[in-house]
Amino acid sequence: MTDIHTTIDGLRAALAPHRADGRRIVLVPTMGALHAGHLALVRHARSVGDVVVVSIFVNPLQFGPSEDLDRYPRTLDADIVALDALVDLVFAPSATEMYPEGAGGTMIAAGDVGTLYEGASRTGHFDGMLTVVAKLFNIVQPAAAVFGQKDAQQVFLVRRMVRDLDLPVTIEVEPTVREEDGLALSSRNRYLDASDRRAAVMLSAALTDASDAASRGTAAAREAARMRLEPEQAVKLDYLVIVDPATFLPVADDYRGPASMLIAARVGTTRLIDNASLQLG
Ligand code: AMP
Repeated sequence: MTDIHTTIDGLRAALAPHRADGRRIVLVPTMGALHAGHLALVRHARSVGDVVVVSIFVNPLQFGPSEDLDRYPRTLDADIVALDALVDLVFAPSATEMYPEGAGGTMIAAGDVGTLYEGASRTGHFDGMLTVVAKLFNIVQPAAAVFGQKDAQQVFLVRRMVRDLDLPVTIEVEPTVREEDGLALSSRNRYLDASDRRAAVMLSAALTDASDAASRGTAAAREAARMRLEPEQAVKLDYLVIVDPATFLPVADDYRGPASMLIAARVGTTRLIDNASLQLG
């Protein structure tokens, strides 16, 4: 049976004996509405840890005023069923438990990369995300935490925070889990109607085309992706960028070597992101 906690004190008390016994605690932070992508992270956590903690918290600090905080799916009962037998503890706090004094308190600043791409479209998103991740690290004090490559900029910024602030946690990253046709699993996919769902596959198709064209250079990779996305009326591209995985800054046009392509687009009313590694020649 999974042990479910809604308070910080309760979770800390439940973890204390495990910590005293020297057991390796691994955290998987989520916002719930769990799908097979999240469960892959949980299985990885199980393989590298003795005690697996999944947090389920829709973090108000990482949503802008015009974003989908109220609409974000909350399926706690189903999530707990999905996690049963896979995890030891679930931490599902309320917003008041996490932020008893509301907004306006101490925040982590995500720095320059936090203002690019997702951060340009969602002002303050990464400050809010890093703030809750730092709080979760302090509450759970895990030896390791598992994140998904689906949110590549998040992974970069969490790793950067861990380095910059000397946090004693190892960051593990799991590959993106996809539907059979390539669409990256996302809690927001449930908002896609049948025609949006057909259009949404173009994001992953564009990444595949870019990857196939990458040996011919950055312009060819970008062009291949755009040719896939632009004819699709239902897809409104937000950004398409090729970044250096080491700096997360856009690569120069003559760059060769490993890179990541990041795509964000609105499909119908739903904002989707995806990314893939490219080997630019
Ligand atoms: P979320 O609750 O969806 O914001 O994400 C919680 C964690 O699950 C993050 O580390 C995400 O990167 C990860 N995640 C979300 N979707 C996927 C996916 N399709 N494959 C792998 N990991 C994912």
